[in-house]
Amino acid sequence: MTFLKEHSFNWKRSQCEPADELVEASGRVCYMSFGDGRQSDKTNKEYVKHLIDQGHESVLEHINWTFIVSGVSRAFTHQLVRHRVGFAYSQLSQQYHDESEACFVVPPSIRCCPKTFSKWQESIENNLTLYKKLIYEVNNDELLCHSSKKERLRDLRSASRSVLPNATETKIVITANARALRHFFTMRGALEGDWEMREVSCELFQIVSKEAPAAFQDFIIKEMPNNSRKLVKL
Ligand SMILES: Cc1cc2nc3c(=O)[nH]c(=O)nc-3n(C[C@H](O)[C@H](O)[C@H](O)COP(=O)(O)OP(=O)(O)OC[C@H]3O[C@@H](n4cnc5c(N)ncnc54)[C@H](O)[C@@H]3O)c2cc1C
Repeated sequence: MTFLKEHSFNWKRSQCEPADELVEASGRVCYMSFGDGRQSDKTNKEYVKHLIDQGHESVLEHINWTFIVSGVSRAFTHQLVRHRVGFAYSQLSQQYHDESEACFVVPPSIRCCPKTFSKWQESIENNLTLYKKLIYEVNNDELLCHSSKKERLRDLRSASRSVLPNATETKIVITANARALRHFFTMRGALEGDWEMREVSCELFQIVSKEAPAAFQDFIIKEMPNNSRKLVKL
């Protein structure tokens, strides 16, 4: 506001969320298009759409979210962290955290079939039992050569976790800007064969689209025949 006063600009603002307004303001600074004779009658939603259509998407990098995501599998986060630009991550460590009480994420296509599910469950239980055995039983010269207890534990947990499956549940803090999220949603939100990507995309979209509806106006959630959802870019 001080900036606008200093430049004697009378910005005609439309009803919108603060995050979307920041995107609009950032775009308008580029062209100094505030006020009479300088700005069109576009609403915030129309203005943001215009920026996106033009590919002027750096303005979307000014709005950020931090999420804590839990109940997801290590398989999911392994794919998620491949997205580097505009993202920051902090994930539960299997070297510092004992996984003896770990939970596991069941893929719906396994959960829906009792026979397959019981085989899956048996395999998971065997793996966890082996993990606990290794954690408590391994005590060899290789470990003892480490100078500190901390490094012995790290080695022990690293070795033991090698038997944990991709389905092991994890927790991850994600910080991402709107541009990076839009790219992630476009690439991952509608992959029909990847239910976890679709589900997390839909969950994140529901949060960000409430706070910045204009910045995500070209995405919608669609129901799928199997009662799951996907996030589609229009
Ligand atoms: C359907 C699907 C299948 C996949 N299969 C595999 C697989 O089999 N094996 C595998 O290893 N990965 C696979 N990936 C991961 C994929 O290759 C990307 O690493 C991942 O999706 C992250 O996307 P991104 O590169 O766009 O990264 P982001 O970090 O989201 O990057 C955003 C954009 O910035 C630009 N950018 C980022 N980094 C660079 C760079 N270093 N140089 C130049 N431009 C850059 C690109 O334009 C990029 O699209 C798959 C992804 C999908 C969606």
